Amino acid sequence: MMKLHSGNFAWQETNLPDTALYPALQQSLSCDCLIIGGGISGALCAYLLAESGINAVLIDKRTIASGSTLANTGLLQFTNDKMLTAMIHTFGEEPAVRFYGMCREAVDKLIRLSHSLGEEARFIHRSSLYYASTEEDTRSLYEEYHTLRKYRFPVEWWDAALIAERFPFHKPGAIFHHASAEGNPFAFVHGLIEAAISRGVAVFENTEATGFDFREHSVLCRAGKHMIQAKHVIFATGYETQQFHKAKGAYLTSSYVMVTEPVRQFNDWFERCLIWETARPYLYLRTTPDNRIMIGGLDEPLSGGKLDKARYLHQGEQLLKRLHGLFPDKRELKAAYAWGAVFGQSRDGLPFIGTHPEYPRCYFVEGYGGNGTVYSLIAAEMITDVIAGKARPDMEWFSLQRSSKPASAVKR
Ligand SMILES: Cc1cc2nc3c(=O)[nH]c(=O)nc-3n(C[C@H](O)[C@H](O)[C@H](O)COP(=O)(O)OP(=O)(O)OC[C@H]3O[C@@H](n4cnc5c(N)ncnc54)[C@H](O)[C@@H]3O)c2cc1C
Repeated sequence: MMKLHSGNFAWQETNLPDTALYPALQQSLSCDCLIIGGGISGALCAYLLAESGINAVLIDKRTIASGSTLANTGLLQFTNDKMLTAMIHTFGEEPAVRFYGMCREAVDKLIRLSHSLGEEARFIHRSSLYYASTEEDTRSLYEEYHTLRKYRFPVEWWDAALIAERFPFHKPGAIFHHASAEGNPFAFVHGLIEAAISRGVAVFENTEATGFDFREHSVLCRAGKHMIQAKHVIFATGYETQQFHKAKGAYLTSSYVMVTEPVRQFNDWFERCLIWETARPYLYLRTTPDNRIMIGGLDEPLSGGKLDKARYLHQGEQLLKRLHGLFPDKRELKAAYAWGAVFGQSRDGLPFIGTHPEYPRCYFVEGYGGNGTVYSLIAAEMITDVIAGKARPDMEWFSLQRSSKPASAVKR
C-alpha cells in the first residue's frame, strides 16, 4: 500500500464530528455503480449518485477520509495553480475561461452542498490574497489581474502600500478577492458519507478492490473473498490510481503542512483571508475555526519515489520559520501539528477525468493539483451525469489520454 502521508493531523482531533465506523464487506453483492475510494472524490460521487437515485456501493481499503483527504488543508479557490493568462496561452481563450468559470461555480456549489450537512462539515466564505513573491513576479500577476477582470472574475488589485496597511509583511502587489472558502475536509467527507448512506448508498471500509473482470454489460470486482458486480465502476482512488494506470502528464511530489497552537488575536491578518503566492512551489496560509494558523508548502521531489516518513519534522520547523517571517508579532507561536504527504499534480494544470480503454464501463477521478477538491466536484458531477444518461462532451477535455493541447476537444 502506498504511504500517502505521515505526521500528526489536525482534522481528526479538532472539532471532530461523530464519525461513524462502517463494516468490511461480508458477502458478494451487485449494484448499478461501484465507487472505489472513500476520500473527497468518492464521497462526492456517492452523494451525487444517491441524489440522482442511482443504486451505489462505496468501498475503501482503509477507512473513510484517511487517504490524501486527511492531509488536505481545506482551501477552496477558483484561481488555479496555473494562472488564467497561462491557460489561455496553452488552451485558447474560450476553454481556459470556461474552465476557470467551472472552478468558480464548483466553489459555490461545494459551499452550498456543505450547508446541507452538519455544522463541522460546512465550508465558510473567505477572501483570498494572492501576492507577488518578488518584484519580477509583479508584472505577470498584474497581467493576470487584468485577464481575470476582462472575463468578469471579481478581483481587486492591491499595491504594496495597501498590503502593508493590512498585513505585517511587505509584498510588491497582490490580487485580492472574496470568492474563496475554507473548511474541514475530513468532517466534510464524513458528512457526505452519512448523507449518502441515509439515501441508500452501502459503504464498506477495510475492503480492497484487488481485481477486475470486464463483462459485456457489467464489471466484476474482486474484493477479498467477495465479488461486487456493477454496471459502472468509479475509480476514486486518489494518487494510488497511478498504480492502476499511469496518466501521461501526472507526477507525484511531497508537500508539507504545519499548524500552530491557538492564536490570541488576528488583528494583523485582514479578514483572516486565505494567503498564497506566485513562487513555485508556493507557500499558503489559512486560519482555523479554533484560531490556529495552518501553513503549507515546501514541496519537493519524492526521494526514491516514496514519501520520507520523518521529513515532515524538518519541513514543519521550516514552515514555522516562514510563518514567523511573515508575522513577526507571532514569533512566540509553536507548532501543534505537522505532516507530510504525497501530492499529485498534472503538467498542464488540468485534472484527469473520464474513461480508459483498458477499463471498460469505468470512470476515473484524478483531481490532481492544489485545487483537488474543486476538481473532485467537477468530476463527480460529470460522471454522475454520464451514468444517469446525460451527455457531457466537456469531459473529453480532461481525458486521461489527452495530449498537451486538449483545447480542440472542448466544443459547446
Ligand atoms: C498537503 C496537502 C494539502 C492539500 N490541500 C488542499 C487544499 O487546501 N484544497 C484542495 O482542494 N486540495 C488540497 N489538496 C489535494 C487534496 O487533498 C486531494 O485532491 C484530495 O484529497 C483527493 O481526494 P481523493 O478522494 O481523490 O483521494 P483520497 O483522499 O486519497 O481517497 C482515495 C481513497 O481510495 C482508497 N483506495 C485506493 N485504492 C483502493 C483500492 N484498490 N480499493 C479500495 N480503496 C482504495 C484509499 O484508501 C483512499 O481512502 C491537498 C493535498 C495535500 C497532499
